[in-house]
Amino acid sequence: MLIAGNWKMHKGPGQTAEFCRAFLGELEDIGEVDIVVSPPFTSLQAAVEALDGSAVAVYAQNVHWEREGAYTGEISAEMLQAHGVAGAIVGHSERRQYFGETDETTARRAYAASEAGLGVIACVGETLEEREAGETEAVLRRQVEAIAAAIPSPDSALRIAYEPVWAIGTGKTATPETAQEAHAFIRSVYPAGQILYGGSVKPDNAEELLAQPGVDGALVGGASLDVESFSTICRTAARLSRS
Ligand code: PEP
Repeated sequence: MLIAGNWKMHKGPGQTAEFCRAFLGELEDIGEVDIVVSPPFTSLQAAVEALDGSAVAVYAQNVHWEREGAYTGEISAEMLQAHGVAGAIVGHSERRQYFGETDETTARRAYAASEAGLGVIACVGETLEEREAGETEAVLRRQVEAIAAAIPSPDSALRIAYEPVWAIGTGKTATPETAQEAHAFIRSVYPAGQILYGGSVKPDNAEELLAQPGVDGALVGGASLDVESFSTICRTAARLSRS
């Protein structure tokens, strides 16, 4: 089970260090769960330092496919590794929606990161219009096959996050059955490592989502910004992993 917190464009270095110190204090007895926090680029160093020696890994929210070059505003896998960063999220729907990320660029980012030895959380998911038009499986297939074409034999460090776009930051969550169906479909298309669910995961719905067969963890946005709610979700995952 993996619980990953995507902080988006929240928390500077000071708030990051403060969060990490408080969060570590809440994490006793949580051995069965892998935990990731994903702060903005400028707070990665603070997170790596504050979490040094702990079981919590630090991921970036994006990574470029080249090692270096004329790519203004981008950061390479090697640059992240130089700061002790363990992985990266790629293809988040906000990157796709606002910054022109495509299936192809997502796959290139995933490939470069995984070749460099970083963990990867590659995000896929349908919009509300696509779901209502009955296109969910076709969209997921297209998105996942792009990653599969770049990384035909994934190892356990490559995770897919199923994040229905209509559930991100909206308070609407996929029903556990909807999440489970999508995960099973993704698994039938591609043998990635774990498949995470993302979309308005909160302390009060984490258990029913994480208890579904094939749901191997969660990518958490809003609720990962608060120590109490994020640690509650992590503890729920630990309890389910033990049972
Ligand atoms: C996300 O941004 O990946 C996400 C799932 O956000 P939220 O939990 O806030 O819906």
